[in-house]
This record gives sequence, structure tokens and C-alpha cells, in this order.
Amino acid sequence: MSESISNEQNNLKSKRDRRKRVARIKKTLLSIIAVWIIISILVISMLCVKVISLQKQIDYLTGNYDTSEMVEGTNNNSAGDVTLVNQTDEDIDNLAGTEDVHKVYLTFDDGPSGNTDQILDILDDYGVKATFFVVGKNDEASKQRYQRIVNEGHTIGMHSYSHKYSEIYSSIDYFKNDFEAIQNCIYDATGVDCMYYRFPGGSSNKVSNIDMSEYIQYVNQQGVTYFDWNVSSGDATSRAYTSDEIVENVMSDVVKYKTSVVLLHDADNKDATVEALPKLIESLQREGVLILPIDEETTVIQHVTVSQ
Ligand code: ZN
Repeated sequence: MSESISNEQNNLKSKRDRRKRVARIKKTLLSIIAVWIIISILVISMLCVKVISLQKQIDYLTGNYDTSEMVEGTNNNSAGDVTLVNQTDEDIDNLAGTEDVHKVYLTFDDGPSGNTDQILDILDDYGVKATFFVVGKNDEASKQRYQRIVNEGHTIGMHSYSHKYSEIYSSIDYFKNDFEAIQNCIYDATGVDCMYYRFPGGSSNKVSNIDMSEYIQYVNQQGVTYFDWNVSSGDATSRAYTSDEIVENVMSDVVKYKTSVVLLHDADNKDATVEALPKLIESLQREGVLILPIDEETTVIQHVTVSQ
């Protein structure tokens, strides 16, 4: 009898032990899963941060870096005896009253490409002239596109030959060589002595973490006018805007100014810009604005200037 009680007790004890073991294993498994989830979340967060920073670097390296949001704020760098001056005061002069006519200058950077042809077709359909700040290319199709821009009455401007920030802004000598290369490239293809320049990244270029004054002075000394922009379509930011958003970005800003220089892009991957263009022109025409190509009459829009 006492033996059977003792057996029973042993049984119970071993069952309890087993339950305890199972409970312990469960607890361990749950802890592992919890740790696993936490580690996964941490890794995902780190990867997200990394992706954003890589996207910024890609934008930087391809030159698709929109610095318009960096224009505000103080930027009075000094270099020797020249000072970079922010042009926020000009903005105040440029604010439109209710009676003012709005002048809008559509400018396309980073072409020519296949999209340039489509953009030229659309501009032709609407009888609208624009400005193309081109980069250097020497294949036949590109040469024909430079020529077509000029033949169809648009303004052609320089946007550097290589468009590689790391090279152009590495020294004034590199910049000069690149400047002469794009000037000659346009002259050889079109016979036009180009009078307009757009700095990759704008004159307020903070992407390259350099003092822009030397480069600005050089362009001024060539008798060439550099144009920045005061309206950004957002078509070169990391975020991929839809064509409707591109139209909205532009329309919400052009109403503010007498002169709007609109930043757009006609590189190969700018399909949303091509899609937006007819809607944009129609919206601008509905508002009764004048759409014009840049010429010597155009109010100069510059983010920064150098003062002696
Ligand atoms: Zn560019």
C-alpha cells in the first residue's frame, strides 16, 4: 500500500517536473521570439535610414539634387574679399500684386535625352517657348536635339558638361575646363554663343559643401548670366511626385511672383515631367500667365550673388 502511494507521488512529481520543463521551454521560446522581433525591428529601422542616405547620395552623384528647400536661411559665407549674399530681398520685389502680369519661364535641366524630343513636341503643340539648360553629349541624336531646341525658338543654356559635382566643383581649373567644354559643345552643334548658365545644384549649391563664390565670379567674368529658380516642380527630389503633384507644386508657387523661373528636368527618367507638361501649360494658360523663354529682358533669379 505504502509502495503504491510512493509510486503515485513519484508520478505526480515527474508530471510536475515535466510541466515545469515545458513551461520553461515555452518561456525560452517566447523570449527568443521577442528578442528576434526586437532585433528585426532594429535592423529594419537601420536599413531604412541607410536607404534614405544612399538615395541622397545617388541624387548627389547623378546631380538630381534639388536644393530649393535649402535656399532659405543665412548663407553669408565669406571668401577673402568677396561675400556671398542671399537674394531674399529680390523675392520681396518679385512678389506679385493683384494687377501684376505673371511671367513664367519653364526651364528644363539635365537634357538632352529622348524626353527632350517629347517635351519639344508638346511645347510645339501649345506654341510655347521654354529654356533648356543642357549638359554635354556628343552623339548624333544629342547634337540634333541641341539644334532642334535652337531652331524651334527656345533658349539654350549651359548646365555644365559633365554634371558631376565631385569633378566640376573640385577646383576652379576643373570648373573652367568644364565650362569651356559645354560652351564649345553648344557652339559646335548650333552656332550659338551661349549666354546663360545654371550651376548644377544652383548658385546656392550646398550639396558639395564648398564656397561657391569663386565659381560665381568666374561665370560673371565670362559675361554669362546664371539663372537659378524660384519655383521648383519637385521632379528631381528623392520623392517621386506624380504628374498631378508636379503641376500642383508649380501652380501653387507661380501665383506668388511676377517672375517665376520654374525648375523642371528633361533627363531620360523624367517621364512624370513629360506627362505633367500638357496639364501644366493648360493650367498656366487658364491663369492667364505669360510663358516665355529666358532672354536678356528676363528678371534675373539668383539664389546668391557675390558682392566685392
Ligand atoms: Zn542638373
